[in-house]
Amino acid sequence: MRIGTIRTDWQRRGLGHPREGTTRLPHHLVERMLTNPRLCGYRTYRGELLLDDDGQPVIGQWEPINTVEEWEAVCAVVAQRKQKYPGRSLARKYLLSGIARCGLCHSKIRGQVNKRRTANSKAATFSYQCSVVNGGCGKVGRAGESVDEFVISLVLAEQRERAASTTVPGDEPWPNASVLADVEADIAALTQAAKAKEITVSTLLQLLPDLERRRDELKLERGRHSKTRQQTASLSVDTIEDFRGLPIERQQALILHSLSAVLIHPAGRGARRFDPSLIEPVWH
Ligand SMILES: [Zn+2]
Repeated sequence: MRIGTIRTDWQRRGLGHPREGTTRLPHHLVERMLTNPRLCGYRTYRGELLLDDDGQPVIGQWEPINTVEEWEAVCAVVAQRKQKYPGRSLARKYLLSGIARCGLCHSKIRGQVNKRRTANSKAATFSYQCSVVNGGCGKVGRAGESVDEFVISLVLAEQRERAASTTVPGDEPWPNASVLADVEADIAALTQAAKAKEITVSTLLQLLPDLERRRDELKLERGRHSKTRQQTASLSVDTIEDFRGLPIERQQALILHSLSAVLIHPAGRGARRFDPSLIEPVWH
């Protein structure tokens, strides 16, 4: 179980409050919450474990969620993962591990290195394989790269479509539109008054610069507003290459934003070509 997985789960259940302007809880915050000594009843002071005169942790007056042993185990795991060289099992992560499921037995499918592949071969470097060891039927597998690429393209297309349909023009209008209209009307009225000789040109020139400055500021603000609006509307990733450039956790979160699972159906015996119709996305 990764921190990112826990975070995604919390957010799906509406727990935790990401900072304004962000959509996710920061990783370090989730980590801090999971390793908070208060979980097992220890009191803290300014984020540090509070010790009594004998050097023993001070126990708080609330009901602990974890035993001390559980809390220590979580801290140990987190600390171990933070080490520079994590264990081999964590070294390689496959995009659809835990997202892909076998089309026959519906077990979760994990990625596996293709051990038979030689350096220059065109064979897949890894595959998604239903595994008997993990409680599956073991009958379904597929070349990993093709599945990844197909699913990424589906998800990007879906998210692009969603972004386009949720940005109705006029959605969240710029709040100062009427202020700008007033300033522009004032400028026009003053200019008109000077033309009609109701006010002198020198009066006009005294009043105009302030109004013009205000108008320019407001226009700048309006430009910034529409830019932000467009940026939130469009996805941060547009191409498969952009997507591939993200950390694997972020890639998986983007996929889970659209899909709850990907079913991989069995291909016929000896089928060599990748058949996208046998990859079934399960949309939310
Ligand atoms: Zn299976």
